[in-house]
Amino acid sequence: MINVAIDGPVGAGKSTIAKECAKRLGCIYVDTGALYRTVGLYCKRNGIEISQENSGNIENAIKSGLKLEIKLENGTQLVFMNGENVSEEIRLPEVSMLASAVSAIPCVRSFLLDTQRKVAKENNVIMDGRDIGTVILPDAQVKIFITAKPEIRAKRRYDELIAKGIDAKFEDVLNDLNTRDYNDSHRAEAPLKQADDAILLDTSDFDFEQSVCAVINLIEKGN
Ligand code: C5P
Repeated sequence: MINVAIDGPVGAGKSTIAKECAKRLGCIYVDTGALYRTVGLYCKRNGIEISQENSGNIENAIKSGLKLEIKLENGTQLVFMNGENVSEEIRLPEVSMLASAVSAIPCVRSFLLDTQRKVAKENNVIMDGRDIGTVILPDAQVKIFITAKPEIRAKRRYDELIAKGIDAKFEDVLNDLNTRDYNDSHRAEAPLKQADDAILLDTSDFDFEQSVCAVINLIEKGN
């Protein structure tokens, strides 16, 4: 099995790049952010407060009441929450902040660990997230940390939301991105950071095709 770990901050292009590379290389693309988004949505729908103090209740609720499944449909990852396809809803900007909040709760991270490791054990995967190279797949054959300047990342994220017909303001997107990056890098559990053996790829000056080629090159070279 080949496992490729891609990590990096919000809006670095990880998911679009990883998805295209997976398609060209015939691997499965796994978007782990979608799992945290689903847990965030589950807490919101069930009125569960997201805080460290409430982590006991969060743990009980997700262990007893949340069945989370990843399914692949024509190479696209779909996420199901207790049988309901929530793949679209979890993309809403308000769910991004919920995901960031639940991701700092240790029991949520351990709840999602097995799902991520299992899919990587059974398939050739390109998996993206924040802690894939450091915690989830420390033995991945290829590890890449993708980044770009914050304004460039915010512009890409803003364009994506507008293209989907989601109402957004550039300033809000930039603030949300900076807040989430700060939270993700400063949490105690599995913070966002480049693994010691990961290659840093800054895509600020790359277009999409150049970014995809750079990643494929690294994968083919085996890092
Ligand atoms: O990648 P995406 O923006 O969809 O992730 C949503 C949130 O989930 C991130 O801001 C981060 O807090 C969290 N996350 C994480 N670890 C991962 C993937 C996502 O903590 N492996």
